[in-house]
This record gives sequence, C-alpha cells and structure tokens, in this order.
Amino acid sequence: MSALLEARRVVKAFGATPALRGVDLTVGEGEVLAILGPSGSGKSTLLHCLAGLTVPDAGEVHLGGRRLDTMDDASRTALRRTELGLVFQYGQLIPELTAAENVALPLLFGKRRRAEALAAAGTWLDRLGVAEVASQRPGELSGGQQQRVAIARALVTEPRLVIADEPTGSLDSVSAEQVMETLLSVVRQSGTTVVLVTHDLRVASYADREVVLRDGLAVGAGVPA
Ligand code: ADP
Repeated sequence: MSALLEARRVVKAFGATPALRGVDLTVGEGEVLAILGPSGSGKSTLLHCLAGLTVPDAGEVHLGGRRLDTMDDASRTALRRTELGLVFQYGQLIPELTAAENVALPLLFGKRRRAEALAAAGTWLDRLGVAEVASQRPGELSGGQQQRVAIARALVTEPRLVIADEPTGSLDSVSAEQVMETLLSVVRQSGTTVVLVTHDLRVASYADREVVLRDGLAVGAGVPA
C-alpha cells in the first residue's frame, strides 16, 4: 500500500504545554484510520497538523508526495480545497443555507457554476442517504442528517483525504453506527482515504487500523500492515 499521508516526528507545543512530542504516522492510500486516545492526548492537534491547519514546531507532514509543513499559506489553502475534506463533531453547516447549498459551497468556492454545483450536491446527498433533505435548512434536520450533509460537503470535491474530528460525537449510538456505515460504504467505493478521531470504540471498529495517542505520542502500529 503506498502512503498518501505521512507524519514524521511531529512536535507541537502551546507555550509550555507539549501537545505532540514526536508523532510518527503513515496512512496508506484508501485506508481508513481511527485515532483514539484520552482527552488532552493531542488528537485534535495532530488532525490540525495533518490537515495543514496548524504548522508543527518540528517534524514533517507529507500529503500526496508534497510537504505540507513548509508550504506557504496560500499553497496550503489551495491544496486543502482540492485534496482534503474536513468533517467536525457538530457539522458546522451554515444555518441560512439549504442542505444542497451547504454541500455545493466548496464547489462554488472553486468557481464551479451554480447549477452544476447544486447538481453535484444532489448526487452526494443521495449517496449519503439524505436526498430528501436537499431543500431543508440545517435547523430542520436531525443530528444524524446534519452529519450526513456535512460528510457530503466534505466529499463533493472528491478529495483524496477526509479528516474527521469526532464525526459522530454528537450522535446517539444507533445514529453514529448508521452514519459510519454510510460513510464507510461511500469512501470504499471512491477509494478515499479517511483519518478520523473518535472516543467511541464501536466507531473505531469500522476503521482498517487504530492508532492510540497517549501524552502526545502514537502508541502501537503507526504504519499500515
Ligand atoms: P485531544 O484532542 O486529544 O483532547 P488536544 O490536541 O486538544 O487533545 O490537546 C493536547 C494538549 O494541548 C492539551 O494539553 C491541550 O490543553 C493543549 N492545547 C491544545 N490546543 C491548545 C491551544 N490552542 N492553546 C493552548 N493549549 C492547547
């Protein structure tokens, strides 16, 4: 399996607080990796470094053969727009927009024509099993529906990598499993690589591999089998 994403000895501190103390991690193309670990172990900081949202103090991050940590801001933003989909715990949908408009937004930022972007949004809402909510606003949707819309928005640009921070953390366990099942079936079909942080062992069990963070270090297999 060739590596899509690689972190080498990544270090990040906030003042005197070390968040990451030299994390090594390799994620294979098409792999689904779960990152587990207690609160404060550095999971979110690692995700931000992997997504190029935070620049590490030391170490390297490589995405698709390009080095993220030394890239200038504009190039990192451009790379994020084309190669990366982000999903957060609370969907972070824009309340004034319909579900379809929320999903279309990354394409509109990429200068796609509105009709085309909305058509693509409809396709992805359908793949995520929520075609029927296209014209509804986030406030009218259940938590599970909102997360499906947020996942559709992350996938609409057909990124190579999806990074998800507790994507089912706000859902009850039944909805969490249903959302994970849908997410997994969609990314398996598209060959998308996924890195997700979760507290939930059942959610982690959907991944190909688990890495545990403890005190800013990765414990266990940091490379694909
Ligand atoms: P986790 O996601 O596993 O809960 P985090 O990556 O959020 O862990 O945090 C790791 C450590 O870094 C914690 O001690 C946390 O308090 C600290 N930390 C994270 N972000 C910041 C920040 N923006 N400012 C100061 N300290 C931070």
